[in-house]
Amino acid sequence: MDTAEQLEIQALARDFAEGELRPRAAEWDEARSIDDDVFAKLAELGFLGMLVPESDGGLGFDLSTYLLVLEELARGDAAVTLSVAIHCGPVTDLVLAHGSDEQKARWLPRLASGEVVGAFALSEPEAGSDVAALSTTAERGPDGWALRGTKRWVTNGSRAGLVVVFARTAPDAIGAFLVEPGSAGYRVGGRERTLGLRGSETVAVELDGLVVGDEGLLGDPGDGLKYALQALDVGRVGIGAQAVGIARAAFEHATTYALERRQFGRALAEFGATRSKLAEMHRRIAGARALTHEAGRALQRFREGAGPRTGPEGVTALAAAAKLEASESATWVADEAVQIFGGYGYMRDYPVEKLLRDAKGTEIYEGTNEIMRHVISREVLHAARPAGE
Ligand SMILES: Cc1cc2nc3c(=O)[nH]c(=O)nc-3n(C[C@H](O)[C@H](O)[C@H](O)COP(=O)(O)OP(=O)(O)OC[C@H]3O[C@@H](n4cnc5c(N)ncnc54)[C@H](O)[C@@H]3O)c2cc1C
Repeated sequence: MDTAEQLEIQALARDFAEGELRPRAAEWDEARSIDDDVFAKLAELGFLGMLVPESDGGLGFDLSTYLLVLEELARGDAAVTLSVAIHCGPVTDLVLAHGSDEQKARWLPRLASGEVVGAFALSEPEAGSDVAALSTTAERGPDGWALRGTKRWVTNGSRAGLVVVFARTAPDAIGAFLVEPGSAGYRVGGRERTLGLRGSETVAVELDGLVVGDEGLLGDPGDGLKYALQALDVGRVGIGAQAVGIARAAFEHATTYALERRQFGRALAEFGATRSKLAEMHRRIAGARALTHEAGRALQRFREGAGPRTGPEGVTALAAAAKLEASESATWVADEAVQIFGGYGYMRDYPVEKLLRDAKGTEIYEGTNEIMRHVISREVLHAARPAGE
């Protein structure tokens, strides 16, 4: 996609975020719920099918265009963006990368049109960072696979029409299943009361003997965990863009406020301490954005068969680095924005405390930042080891 087209799409996303998300974000945060019409509008714009190929009814965006849109949406509201990023990222990626022709034909057009919202159910009460320890089982019977277990923190869990569930198909094997939440044995638990991203629905899901036929098994029944971790590469780049959007919003509010608010007869922006904060905020946002787009380009190259997944220049390390840098920058920037607002920053009536609460989530989901450091160091060290070690 050329730059002019990208700028046009970016402007469309910005207008949407400014018109539909930003003015309602505080209300959704308070109500702990996002109005349904937003998903219909996102679908109308095609933003639920950004990474679905045009031949399957999507917009077929390249990664950079996708990231530009996510950043703009997150500048409007990070809770909506989390739903979009999971739907367009890991969920769509799993179907695209491992779905059979029938699965792709069944799900991709519906994911692209927004008829179906996607969810990703990997985490469990006792298996978060250590996902390989998950205990949900998929037992093969005459009618298919019977799924039993509890999934935790499923974003879009009750809104979704398709949930990718990871379950143990054998003591040493994990499979990925395309589950329709209407099926018997799918029960949505209570909504989590979260610190930030309060509009986004994060729920527990009980799987009580839900049966999935072979048409719902994604790829090889022993490769589900590998698929999940690969799908998290695109997920993490998306969270990088989400974090940049949050940080930008905080920075913009802080800049405006620093020019307006006067103390000691001068605008805050005239104090060296404030200017230094603003400069550092700008530097961190620009750095996080650059790294996020570098990871996006690495992913694009990998998808085109022109770049590696592993090693220091590979998608996995760069996606983890982008999420790490962008999420920590977002929390830092939002924290400084609260500081610049002073007492008002600590009040719910002003927008920056929400941005700080939202930013913190980006350090946790799709792999915590401790896990991001582990992933990066593993990729770097593996590449540096002498052959055979
Ligand atoms: C808002 C929100 C939305 C979410 N959405 C989804 C979703 O849609 N689907 C889904 O599957 N999951 C989702 N999650 C779950 C999320 O991915 C997990 O919370 C996350 O992976 C961490 O797992 P945990 O909470 O069990 O923490 P733990 O794994 O128990 O970790 C606790 C702490 O220990 C640290 N730690 C753990 N292991 C190590 C180690 N080896 N070295 C160093 N430090 C370590 C962690 O970094 C963390 O600081 C969501 C979470 C949140 C908060």
